[in-house]
Amino acid sequence: MQHREIVIFDFDGTLIDSDEALLAPMDLLGVSRSDVVMGSAVAQECERLGVSLDDYVAAYDTEVSRPFPGAAELLGELDRWAICSNKHPTSAGIELDRLGWKPELVMCADAFDWGHKSLVPMLEQMDLDAAQVLLVGDSGGDLRCAEEVGCRFVWAGWNERVRANPPSGLVANTPQEILEYLD
Ligand SMILES: [Mg+2]
Repeated sequence: MQHREIVIFDFDGTLIDSDEALLAPMDLLGVSRSDVVMGSAVAQECERLGVSLDDYVAAYDTEVSRPFPGAAELLGELDRWAICSNKHPTSAGIELDRLGWKPELVMCADAFDWGHKSLVPMLEQMDLDAAQVLLVGDSGGDLRCAEEVGCRFVWAGWNERVRANPPSGLVANTPQEILEYLD
């Protein structure tokens, strides 16, 4: 079935279960896990926590993260999809290669001048209006990205942090349920 909407995904915590991958380097660098704010732009978060971005990326094990159950199957059913992520492009690129996933466009932290990500340059680059896009994410920052451009947003309800703190708005309980929200 042809879907008219294009799905843009957050990566960490939405398509891949990467909490452990993201936090383990902080252990090595002497940062308490409870101090880390998940969903932050990687360079900003490293700076806030007083660790070097290069050291963090060097300590990041790109073999640890796993796709959420059903994520790969969902991607296989989508005509067009892309990734908008706050993570480091090196880590994301290696993980995407390992998974064999080929999004139409990937924009990572470097594409946003290392500040928080935004859909504005993504829509520009993909030549899309906000009405053509559905964003899927697991954090308040993701929701703000959708609000910034006025596109629809669906929570990744398969992430246990989302489930533990049920948000208002549209929630998909499984990746497959995203299909129900598509035009
Ligand atoms: Mg996330």
